[in-house]
Amino acid sequence: MKKIGILGSTGSIGTQTLDVVRSNGDIQVLGVSAGRNIKMLEDQIREFHPVLAAVWEEEAARDLAIRVKDTDTRVVSGMEGLLELARLEEMEILVTAIVGMLGIRPTMEAIRAGKDIALANKETLVTAGHLIMPMAKEHGVKILPVDSEHSAIFQSLNGENPSQIHKLLITASGGPFRGRTREELKHVTLEDTLKHPNWVMGRKITVDSATLVNKGLEVMEARWLFDMPLEKIQVVVQPQSVIHSMVEFVDGGIMAQLGTPDMRLPIQYALYYPERRPLGGARLDFAKLGQITFLEPDMETFLGLPMAMEAARKGGTMPTVFNAANELAVKKFLGREIGFLDIYDIIGQSMSRHTVKEHPDLEEILSVEQETCQWIESRW
Ligand code: NDP
Repeated sequence: MKKIGILGSTGSIGTQTLDVVRSNGDIQVLGVSAGRNIKMLEDQIREFHPVLAAVWEEEAARDLAIRVKDTDTRVVSGMEGLLELARLEEMEILVTAIVGMLGIRPTMEAIRAGKDIALANKETLVTAGHLIMPMAKEHGVKILPVDSEHSAIFQSLNGENPSQIHKLLITASGGPFRGRTREELKHVTLEDTLKHPNWVMGRKITVDSATLVNKGLEVMEARWLFDMPLEKIQVVVQPQSVIHSMVEFVDGGIMAQLGTPDMRLPIQYALYYPERRPLGGARLDFAKLGQITFLEPDMETFLGLPMAMEAARKGGTMPTVFNAANELAVKKFLGREIGFLDIYDIIGQSMSRHTVKEHPDLEEILSVEQETCQWIESRW
């Protein structure tokens, strides 16, 4: 039995991870966790019998403890709870399927405890990649990508010599507003934004896909995961989401990973790497598909990508400002407090006022996050 824990087991990636567990039958789930969805967490506890369940909100944790007092699962809460889950004895892999920078500390805790990481939580690498990657190396821990683009690159690189990479080609669907002008984006609604053309995902990443912030976060994630300079990472729009990403080598040869948009594949690949297991579900039918098309990303309209590139180029604490501002702006957009284009204003203004600090440690990263959020709250 492979033993895993899941941070964010009630979310889109979390529940699909549990689908993979169900269909394989040789994975034991030792830890589950949620922000506040204790109804689903209770069902998961009864089905998977984990030793630990971590709930962010204390009151919800108390409720859950009462609901599951007839089971052997212990319920913990807050950051301490997430850290306890991260270092669970006997756990081999931690799936980080939580949203946002909240994932940094538990990811580091798991690495320190020698657990491999199946990484979905991209915000962690974006803001603290310079700390996490060397730490993983030091502790002999594997960081296995779950994000479909990074999994595609990881699969394309299998057995290749990384020094012979010419560039990484990260594909993007372009989101629900591909082809629209900035003027047309002024009045898009939350409902329009949440209609991703190809993928069903959590709300935050769905908004990030519409702004192209997600693609920017993925460029930064790829930079750390594959130790690649930014100039060697290119974004290509591929609206059908069939090619999940590609690697071009020095001889001009290009390796790509293709498939239907189904996150269970990258999740399963990360959990069983380097083994491949059978997986049910739809398969690509090229005759039906007819064509795969490509476009340049529209950097004039969808400012999420150019702003992310600027943050990445400036480095140090700037990616934290970019990410923290986006997290709060998206929260406000999801709460209908601001419009779609305000997301760009919030990120842009937060970045303009920030003076970069090079090589920030964890405390500095978290304090820049807090300071950025305070400044935004005082204005919007
Ligand atoms: P969801 O919003 O669907 O799920 C988030 C999970 O995190 C839920 O289990 C949620 O619990 C939990 N959570 C939220 N806040 C807290 C908290 N304070 N403490 C503990 N747990 C918390 O997100 P996704 O699954 O879509 O995304 C997760 C991560 O994976 C993100 O970083 C995203 O960018 C990345 N990713 C997602 C992909 C996808 O297809 N969904 C693809 C590639 C990457 P609750 O249910 O109680 O709110």
